[in-house]
Amino acid sequence: MNIVRTTTPDSTCVLTFDRPNSSANVFDRATLEELEQHLADIEREPVRGVIIASAKPKIFIAGADLNAFARDADERALGEMVDHGHRIFTRLSRLKIPSVAAIHGVCLGGGLELALACDWRVASTDKATKLGLPETQLGILPAWGGSTRLPKLIGLPAALGLILTGKQIVAAQAQKLGVVDDVTHPEYLLDAAKKILTRGKRPALRPRLLNRMPFAFAVAAKARHDVRVKTRGHYPAPLAAIEVCTAAAHQSFEEGLAREKRAFLELVRTPECRNLMNVFFLQERAKKLSVNDRGGTSGPRPIRKVAVIGAGTMGAGIAQWISARGIPVRLKDVNPAALARGLQAIEKIYAEAVKRRVFTRAEATAGLDRITPIHTDIPLADIDLVVEAALEKLEVKQHVFSELEQRMGADTVFATNTSALSIDAIASVLERPERVVGLHFFNPVHRMQLVEIVRGPRTSLATLETALQFTKSLGKLPVIVKDSPGFLVNRILLPYMVEAVWLFTQGMSAAAIDRVMIKFGMPMGPLRLADEVGLDVAQHVAKDLERRLPKGIPINDTLEKMVAKGWLGKKSGRGFYVYSARGEEPAPESDMRFLQAEKPRTSDAASQQDRLVLIMINEAARVLDEGVVEAPEDVDFGMIMGTGWAPFRGGPLRYADRLGVMEIVRRLDVLSREVAPHFAPCHRLKKMAWEGRTFYEAPRAAAEVEPALRPELGAHVDTPLATQNPGPLGDRNPPVQPRQTAALH
Ligand code: NAD
Repeated sequence: MNIVRTTTPDSTCVLTFDRPNSSANVFDRATLEELEQHLADIEREPVRGVIIASAKPKIFIAGADLNAFARDADERALGEMVDHGHRIFTRLSRLKIPSVAAIHGVCLGGGLELALACDWRVASTDKATKLGLPETQLGILPAWGGSTRLPKLIGLPAALGLILTGKQIVAAQAQKLGVVDDVTHPEYLLDAAKKILTRGKRPALRPRLLNRMPFAFAVAAKARHDVRVKTRGHYPAPLAAIEVCTAAAHQSFEEGLAREKRAFLELVRTPECRNLMNVFFLQERAKKLSVNDRGGTSGPRPIRKVAVIGAGTMGAGIAQWISARGIPVRLKDVNPAALARGLQAIEKIYAEAVKRRVFTRAEATAGLDRITPIHTDIPLADIDLVVEAALEKLEVKQHVFSELEQRMGADTVFATNTSALSIDAIASVLERPERVVGLHFFNPVHRMQLVEIVRGPRTSLATLETALQFTKSLGKLPVIVKDSPGFLVNRILLPYMVEAVWLFTQGMSAAAIDRVMIKFGMPMGPLRLADEVGLDVAQHVAKDLERRLPKGIPINDTLEKMVAKGWLGKKSGRGFYVYSARGEEPAPESDMRFLQAEKPRTSDAASQQDRLVLIMINEAARVLDEGVVEAPEDVDFGMIMGTGWAPFRGGPLRYADRLGVMEIVRRLDVLSREVAPHFAPCHRLKKMAWEGRTFYEAPRAAAEVEPALRPELGAHVDTPLATQNPGPLGDRNPPVQPRQTAALH
């Protein structure tokens, strides 16, 4: 039973959502049916009003059950699901007695749509209470009446503000917008709900000025323009939501619901929706990651106190994040000035979070108070885990850890935030190397959710498990990777940046190169990204990968020449772009010809894009082949969360499947002949193409092989064609015109 019905002595019916054996309430078919049954009973009973509440401590209703949604993938079933929701929520709104949603905890998607179908809404002031309609972020739109009711309730501009961004707002913001009618302390929520019921049914809403023609059209035109600029047309859901909400603002309720349904069914068919849903499932997968399938341990070590070594960009960010999660942190730097800068940076992060209402002022102060700055030897007796974020030099990291090992407990976990150094080499100087693990946070720590957990050959399972649990307890999303050059994300990202430098050296402008990838869907072009990372750092990591990998991508001397001139990218004000102190959009550096070929090489946009995208796919296939990560999901998840790789394309390997592995092999072959040998497709890709495999799907039947392509495949395999299992391609869709977000290092 998901909903418990009680009647209070004053004849108020309370429907309490309480999904058994779960911390969250979600809507699935069974819950909808239960709700329908309760409404039918209520219609016959002499009650004076209905309150909808939740028994969960932090969740009202988190939304529709997306797993069920993914299972019911056929159009008829999805259409029925939409109709079902419409029918039940409309029935609720048409009860003869008043209804109120008493919202405490997360109230998202279908949960908010249910609340919107009530006459009134009261929300608790608790921090856990967040309201939002995140559907467009999943490639769909609110289709249980949300796209119709919200514009009528709060006006088109405010409704679009919520629906197009998917943002989650706290009770006070919701009240200001008119989404909820009252806010109160959680303790008084039921009383407030009962009180509001005395107002009776909600009077009919007066049409709002901006919902009327021609104003609504003007609002919609502006919203469409903003969405197109922001998404470059790659995301159909926000555009569909604008059409549906605009029509709903001035049309009948029934017409609004019919439009919602039509738009929803069109959107679920799109690859963008499938890919965005997959990103959601990848995040859920990361949250459930465990070491059990690797053997299991006696359980993770509880982490109560942490030391962070190095108060630079990363150390400060890591210390802030950990302190914000309630864990005391000792922050050490050998340089007092660096320590002071680190503390300032931490204060700034907290101040911005207060401005965005993530923390109250008191919470931010408490967080800051949990950080103890130290520039001499740290007191160590009670430290459970150390995160080292000092300089990227092997000797420095070895020295830090071996010095700590002399003074620390035998079980303390030593985590290093190295971006590229070998975990095993760092651990090699320790008496207990099994306690060393990589915890590779991304920059900026407070924005980037991904953490690469790097397991060295000697890292114990217990250490790995502690690192994993700690990462999850911080609210970060982990991916476990093998100790190998560049780990996962940098290993794939660096060849892409190096290739962009090759294109530049061959005569293409930095702005033109970046445009190609922004059009593909990246949040930022590769050369702008190199500037952000720092050209010295990019060059250092690229060289390191070239040296350590058997098939490292060769680099040229362009970055070296730029670094020699002091052009280090954003931090020095000059790189591929010129940066102003005022933080305006950087302009392309104009004085660049000395770095470029006399006679620029000509190439078309498709081949430029292929050079940049396929080089990543080739590297991603090698990463899988070498067992750096276990599954294609890890690659796609890491690249989307760590670099902002176009989420609507599902990640490099999902994109590869869509393009077709055989087609990728063919194009890489062309590039290796016409551009440079380093494009030669890797063994895994060739084998997959030959076997007709895709990264995610089962191999195609032999009969599906396109005969015309077989001879070409023969060129890539050692075994004669006849003895191979001939099978072709994944989905050979035409090359998609690609777009997308980011951070490296
Ligand atoms: P940074 O130069 O900003 O900070 C390093 C700090 O370490 C400096 O303040 C320095 O004084 C201090 N330090 C040096 N030796 C020390 C010692 N023995 N004990 C204590 N403190 C010492 O560097 P950063 O960018 O914060 O990078 C730190 C580590 O994180 C590096 O290993 C780097 O590769 C890695 N990393 C960096 C990024 C990034 O984007 N900057 C991202 C992920 C990982």
